[in-house]
Amino acid sequence: MIALAALLLSGALIAVSVSLVRERRARRELEAGHARELAAQRERREAELRSQAGRTVALFDRMVEGIIVLGPDGRIRLSNRAAAAFFGFKPPAEGQTVLEATRHHEVAALVGRLAREPDVLDHELRLDGLGGARFLQVNALALRSPEGANDGAILVFHDLTRLRQLEALRQEFVANVSHELRTPLSLIKSAAETLIDGGREDPAITVRFLEIIDKHANRLTHLIDDLLLLARIDSGRVELNLRPVELRTAAEDALDDAALIARARDVTLGNEVPAGLRAAADPERLRQVLANLIDNAIKYGRTGGVVTLRGRDAGGGMVEISVRDDGPGIPPDALSRVFERFYRVDKARSREQGGTGLGLAIVKNVVQAHGGDVRVESSAGRGAEFFLTLPASNGTKLTPV
Ligand code: ADP
Repeated sequence: MIALAALLLSGALIAVSVSLVRERRARRELEAGHARELAAQRERREAELRSQAGRTVALFDRMVEGIIVLGPDGRIRLSNRAAAAFFGFKPPAEGQTVLEATRHHEVAALVGRLAREPDVLDHELRLDGLGGARFLQVNALALRSPEGANDGAILVFHDLTRLRQLEALRQEFVANVSHELRTPLSLIKSAAETLIDGGREDPAITVRFLEIIDKHANRLTHLIDDLLLLARIDSGRVELNLRPVELRTAAEDALDDAALIARARDVTLGNEVPAGLRAAADPERLRQVLANLIDNAIKYGRTGGVVTLRGRDAGGGMVEISVRDDGPGIPPDALSRVFERFYRVDKARSREQGGTGLGLAIVKNVVQAHGGDVRVESSAGRGAEFFLTLPASNGTKLTPV
């Protein structure tokens, strides 16, 4: 009886321990399953964060503004390509201080100010490098945790260089315009004063001074016309009446217009533009452009020299027309500047000829408005040749732009 009870008890015990083992195994499996699921979740989350961070970095790298994010320890957490390019550091700059990365004390001082101020806005920074001065606008912002503790800073750099260059150009332009206006005005004024002060009693003096007034009033009119035309081109207000223009005929017309002044200087004009070349151009504007170039070739060329117009198919849907003279030419250092507004190789000579210093700038702008371009070739003592390329016309009707 006792033996039976013992047997039953041990059977029950075995059953219980078997079920316990099973239960524990099941629990372990369940726990392992949970752990696997948790690990998979964590991996998914980390991958998500990694791709989010990757996207943020990619986004930062595509920004034109330079960005530097600092941690609470003052070391760089994140910086983008634009910032690296502005300061010439090699990314990644993570872990460096802002001074180590930018090597610019002014930037480090801005970060220092953030300990006392919440932000430093619109600070202008000048960087002097090999390619010339660069101007950056810096906005620096202190980051705070929800509890108000230091959580680093963010620095944003905008490149103002182009803006500053345009401002400098505008100031130079205004100064040039004022100067150009003042010179003929003061000559007109002193001629008028001479006449008022009694000069008019002598008929010869009266004629001479009235001629001075007339000459400089014409110069002023010319200057104002050129300025207004440039302003209209700049603001895109010049309407081009595009037509197929036969270049040999256009050259002939422009040469006819210049015949008188050419004769006065004993200059021979030649038209070597082959027949049949057609440009898509505004005939009036093209005539003006050619007149400017022929006028220059006569003015700055040789007395008794030769001015020749040539043309060719330039390929790629473009045609070319050029104006060549056999005068003293343009010095190499001036070649790249002659198309600038008010640039003259010889100021006195240009003024003496009634030049405004705007002729070639107008030529360039008008030709570019047609979708073409200009260039000049010259070697000292061997004359100059100005080339215009214009879109070719296949002779069909063109839409004005
Ligand atoms: P400007 O009113 O002074 O003639 P342009 O813009 O037409 O102004 O020309 C700018 C300068 O380029 C001139 O002052 C002159 O010094 C130089 N230049 C232009 N054409 C020639 C040329 N064919 N030969 C030599 N120099 C030239």
